Amino acid sequence: MSTDRPLQSDSHRDRPTNEYTSDRDRSYPGDVARLNGHELVAIDEWLPGTEPTPYEIDLTDGYEYRTRYWRCRKCGQERNHRDEFTTPCDNPQPPTALEAGGYSIDDPRTRRALNEKLDVCFATVGSIYEVESASGNTYKVDIEATTCTCPDFEQRQPDDGCKHLRRVDLEIRTGLVPAPDGTFSR
Ligand SMILES: [Zn+2]
Ligand SMILES: [Zn+2]
Repeated sequence: MSTDRPLQSDSHRDRPTNEYTSDRDRSYPGDVARLNGHELVAIDEWLPGTEPTPYEIDLTDGYEYRTRYWRCRKCGQERNHRDEFTTPCDNPQPPTALEAGGYSIDDPRTRRALNEKLDVCFATVGSIYEVESASGNTYKVDIEATTCTCPDFEQRQPDDGCKHLRRVDLEIRTGLVPAPDGTFSR
């Protein structure tokens, strides 16, 4: 009996198109795993030589071989095999001061709070901080009452505070100046 089938058999047709490309062209973007609280990503590295065996190490030919290891993107630990992450991920990344304060870097007042030359002065224990701006004006920020004596705050009372309030709050959160009780965060 006759058939119109191509020479290639059905079992070959469904193979991925990169079947015959070199191993190196393959990527493993989906290789992530979670284990004991770790968020693991697979990292492939190419090393010169041939893969060492227990019997010989040969670096004389031009081959490369791929090694793979795993890194936790929360705690930064690295292991050769993902089942070696046997201890819990006990060092999660703390939120940044911006995240903790609920600020968005898209907000121009937050950008000014971070980028402008503002000197925060903590004189005595208490909630009042003095902020000297680049223009030489000094404003008083009360971090507990969330007030500032600058015109922006007094005239517009922006939701997350003026740039001086944000700067003081961020400097307390990052430990650059002490909190009102005199203690440093972190
Ligand atoms: Zn971890
Ligand atoms: Zn202000």
